[in-house]
Amino acid sequence: MTGKAAEANAMGQDAAGAAGAAKAAEAGAGVAGAAEAAVADAAAPDADHVPVFSDALFRKKRKKGKYSLAQPPAPPLEAPVADTHAHVHLLWDPVGALACAGVWNVGFVCDVVDTVEDDPAVWDAMDGWRAQAAERLAAYAQAAAETYGAAALPRNLGAAKPGASAGSTCQGAGGPSAALAAPAVRFIAGCHPHNAKDYDDAAEAALLARLADPRVAALGEIGLDYHYDFSPRDVQKDVFRRQLRLARECGLPVSLHLREAHDDAYRILCDEGFPPAGTLLHCFNLDKQVLAPFLEAGCFIAFGGPVTFKAADEVREAARLVPLDRLLTETDSPYMTPEPMRGMICGPAHTVFTAARLAEVFGCAFGADREAFLERLWKNAHDLLDRRPTAWQLAHATSVCEARP
Ligand SMILES: [Zn+2]
Repeated sequence: MTGKAAEANAMGQDAAGAAGAAKAAEAGAGVAGAAEAAVADAAAPDADHVPVFSDALFRKKRKKGKYSLAQPPAPPLEAPVADTHAHVHLLWDPVGALACAGVWNVGFVCDVVDTVEDDPAVWDAMDGWRAQAAERLAAYAQAAAETYGAAALPRNLGAAKPGASAGSTCQGAGGPSAALAAPAVRFIAGCHPHNAKDYDDAAEAALLARLADPRVAALGEIGLDYHYDFSPRDVQKDVFRRQLRLARECGLPVSLHLREAHDDAYRILCDEGFPPAGTLLHCFNLDKQVLAPFLEAGCFIAFGGPVTFKAADEVREAARLVPLDRLLTETDSPYMTPEPMRGMICGPAHTVFTAARLAEVFGCAFGADREAFLERLWKNAHDLLDRRPTAWQLAHATSVCEARP
């Protein structure tokens, strides 16, 4: 989805969108010790008075501003998972969101930034957010262990192991036995179809400058959105084509946002050529008929909250058709919150609910079976979105982040 103010508004999350980056910088480092304390210490509410809890507990909304604890997947996931599509910088407390993700072993996060609309401060802020998240990890994990019991946490961390660290944003995430750590973060950058009307040569030059940053893993989210039609359709199509050509030039994969426009998008992709570095359909929430041509074309398919929704049998039926080496998890946070957390603002940590549901959809038994499934998805995310810088990026890099050897 997008950080578009109007859309966020419709979902009652405008404050998270409009003020996220600025507020995040001010967000207190206070860590709640227990569920009750966390409720009392909830950070500033957004415009619709949805409190932001800065800890690693899951809560469900009840009536009249009350919240009850939600249980994490049980047994805990056997392997780390990746959130391949999040708007971390739109969250009220990105530091807390990254720390929470770390506790629940969401070890890799792609932050999707719109270079036309989003505050460019995010590019400089991310490393600091990760470092601050690392400082909160031990306390967050301890509080989660006290609340849920140590055995409920992934990796059975109990009261948090020493060795929590942020590492580098560019550093690859650890494997299943990694110590408690803030997630590795890569960026996905592009012009969302909503903002196509504001995409001109200057915007393209600005986007290219960002794509040269070796932290950028893909070009996105790009595509077509005929549901909102915030930009004229002809303009959306033109800007989609232009960015597909950029992806080819830069050697990057693309992350697609398609809404009520799959036929047109498929025609354009065939016409321009699917980017050789890969095409990812983000947040797939439709049926197998819509999915079929994209599967045939070799696309990667990411599932978020919708695959957990009670009425979404057709989405789950479509998911089962995706080859295991092209299947990914994501959130689209702060949007598309999965069950059982619907009604709350989504964060990268919620990937665990989607991953658990997907494993169920694929019939995985708890233990070694599910572990192998999750490891496969983890590998997919890294193979597609945690590559070394492209030759184009190396030739154009001006970033603060050293290109990895
Ligand atoms: Zn999105």
